[in-house]
Amino acid sequence: MSDHPHYIDGEFRPARGGQWLDSVNPATGEVWARIPAGEAFDVHDAVAAARAAAPGWAATPPMERAAILRSWARSVRDHAEELWRLDATDNGRASTEARPAVLGGAAQIEFHAGLAETITAETVSISPAAHTYSVREPFGVVGVIIPWNAPLAMFLAKVSAALAAGNTVVVKPPERASVSILAAARHLSEAGIPRGAVNIVCGEGATAGEALVEHRDVAKISFTGSTATGRRITQRSVTNLKVLGLELGGKSPNIVFADADLEAAAAGVAAGIFTGSAGQACIAGSRILIEDSIFDEFVERLRGQAAAIRLGDPLDPETTMGPVAFDTQYDKVRGYLDLAEAEGARRVFGGRCGKELFDPASPLAGGYFVEPTLFATPDNRLRVCQEEIFGPVAVALPFSSDSHALDLANDTVYGLAAGLWTNDLSRTHRMIAGLRAGTVWVNTYRRLHWALPFGGQKESGNRTSNGPHTLDEWLEHKSVWIEHG
Ligand code: NAD
Repeated sequence: MSDHPHYIDGEFRPARGGQWLDSVNPATGEVWARIPAGEAFDVHDAVAAARAAAPGWAATPPMERAAILRSWARSVRDHAEELWRLDATDNGRASTEARPAVLGGAAQIEFHAGLAETITAETVSISPAAHTYSVREPFGVVGVIIPWNAPLAMFLAKVSAALAAGNTVVVKPPERASVSILAAARHLSEAGIPRGAVNIVCGEGATAGEALVEHRDVAKISFTGSTATGRRITQRSVTNLKVLGLELGGKSPNIVFADADLEAAAAGVAAGIFTGSAGQACIAGSRILIEDSIFDEFVERLRGQAAAIRLGDPLDPETTMGPVAFDTQYDKVRGYLDLAEAEGARRVFGGRCGKELFDPASPLAGGYFVEPTLFATPDNRLRVCQEEIFGPVAVALPFSSDSHALDLANDTVYGLAAGLWTNDLSRTHRMIAGLRAGTVWVNTYRRLHWALPFGGQKESGNRTSNGPHTLDEWLEHKSVWIEHG
């Protein structure tokens, strides 16, 4: 049991109000750490520190910022083992994902360091009597609000991009999984990041989160989380008309055609919803659209994939799927298991939870485990087909033609990602053009890289991160017109 205070102005501090929140290990259901229950005055302290640090950091030449970021990346690598273990203990992500996520985060910091060195101005020739150009400048203080499903990776990615662009940052980590982020803060100053440039304030979304969103000295919020919270943040941020970057939820279709390599497709589809964070990923392929001629055969292949998944302690290298991250999320997922049956979907496999999966003497019997579960229905309007469950629960739907598959795929308010499994090149291109999704994978699923843009369409978000232009999100334009006659 350990306490992990806020990180404000280069110091670790408890909440001013003295209150703490428990952090629970979802593999056992036991409290293992405490984080501060931050409130508005903690947020104000953090924003004040970020504001004081902003002019100095913005004036630090981009090459120097890049060198500091590279030093941070080295330090993250040096402490990777400790960091991924804390992340996995906090949110239940299996080591097979938690470890590469930290190393990927270090590489992403380096990518952003490289981009810092390429920030340029643009000269525009309008008149021989004038020198006209446009420069890009940091916003000043930006807020970063992070969800619990990949806290550390998102912290490393967002904060390094914001810093590369010359902003200072106040981070509000997820109240259910803040510890790895607070541990990562220990290495910021040794890397040369000045005090106040990065501040971390924990607490509930409705208190600490909203105080950050409403703060008039915060020019921009980068929010990753649910679509419902994204809507609320949009309303609360009107105080100073903040720039909002919203990366939200999904209900992504994974579409399997009869001509695909079905063994590869079954492995990829199962990884997309089960072993991939136990379905707790914005890009989870939670709707599996299967061409009707292979529906039964493919579902059997999925059953085989699910049977081979090993649920267990996230820190055990043999584990391929961890628990759901916390108690209320566990209750929500179990609620959808009941709802699916009440709505008339057929349970194909899975459905057992918690104590049904482990020996009662095992500490894991108290954990929030849900086994890989598949339902089948032809009706995409069921709530289990429309609502983001965020657990290892998929729905299989049959389709009869390319256009039927497209109709089903796009019949959702979300537009984050889609998967296609086919060897027909013409169909591939037609489907890619018709899918309303920020990312389309073909004969693979859930592959992300910081060099490729990532974002959502429709209610999955309004901003694209990653890619060669990702710093644009963290910079604003200033145009200059010098009349010289
Ligand atoms: P959430 O919206 O409940 O919370 C996300 C963060 O927002 C947390 O830090 C929370 O404390 C904070 N928050 C909550 N209410 C707030 C408020 N009123 N004001 C300010 N902050 C507030 O989401 P979650 O349950 O933590 O995460 C799961 C969701 O995140 C899923 O919908 C998932 O699809 C989405 N997600 C999206 C992406 C993406 O890139 N599109 C990536 C990961 C997760």
